[in-house]
Amino acid sequence: MLETKAERQALVDEILEWKKKRNALILAHNYELPEIQDIADVLGDSLALARAAMRADADVIVLCGVHFMAETAAILNPDKTVLLPDPNAGCSLADSITADALRAWKAEHPGAVVVSYVNTSAEVKAESDYCCTSSNAVQVVRSIPEDREILFLPDMFLGSYVKRVTGRENLHIWMGECHVHAGIRPHDIEETLSAHPDAELLIHPECGCSTSNMYLLAEGQLPADRTHVLSTSGMLQRARESDKRAFIVATEVGILYQMERQNPDKTFIPANRAAVCPFMKMITLEKVRDALARLETVISVPADVAARARVAIERMVAIG
Ligand code: SF4
Repeated sequence: MLETKAERQALVDEILEWKKKRNALILAHNYELPEIQDIADVLGDSLALARAAMRADADVIVLCGVHFMAETAAILNPDKTVLLPDPNAGCSLADSITADALRAWKAEHPGAVVVSYVNTSAEVKAESDYCCTSSNAVQVVRSIPEDREILFLPDMFLGSYVKRVTGRENLHIWMGECHVHAGIRPHDIEETLSAHPDAELLIHPECGCSTSNMYLLAEGQLPADRTHVLSTSGMLQRARESDKRAFIVATEVGILYQMERQNPDKTFIPANRAAVCPFMKMITLEKVRDALARLETVISVPADVAARARVAIERMVAIG
């Protein structure tokens, strides 16, 4: 634990030195701790980090995020050394489906197209036809011919949202969830909305509240003119472009740091202050320094799995 500003700066200086020595690039997710966001060369959601990893020409990529993101970077740029500063940084959503479980599900629906949210292991991606993120899930599903059955996994809230928006009756949903997003419940939204009647509401489609809120929205029980269901990057964009002064934010609270930095004259209110991803918060400045100094922990994916997973990931990156 760093006590003073000077200690923190000394550590940041050390990281910058190691970064130069290793010819490294630091990628960080929007849900990381503020001090990690501050040292990132590229900061973004899963899709933005995947794109940055793909075009990286540094020798080393330090992925400040969770395990599946480092795997994605290793798959997209296999000649680079990809480091995850804490190998225990996992994801409850990615853990909700295994490759064996997916193979069994596919056997029940022969010929179905498999669309996997990017929060999955490399082995699950290798069993998939397409990957998607919350930014492009709707576009990916719309790109698949209407008459093809779709298996959408692993997030049931994002799946329900995509099914509702696209009207696809032949889309089957895996019942997985992220424990952080599922913890944001409809009553959190109702309470925060009534406390801030002029605020715009920004909801991430992975939230436990999103399915019921989409229903309430359709029923006219939520203010349609100030409710937006958006991906992580979409939320940041909306916060910048909207002329509203206050926003209720229904996703992991780490994103508030960038929102406040980019919009110092606006107010951001978390729908649930307890929506904190413990895996994202495992990455600290000390661990980034040690990762660079020791070149640990290297994340790699077996070549045969990577080759199959790459097809699905590249389709995701190409669709937008
Ligand atoms: S917020 Fe949820 S989906 Fe995102 S990394 Fe954490 S556990 Fe996984």
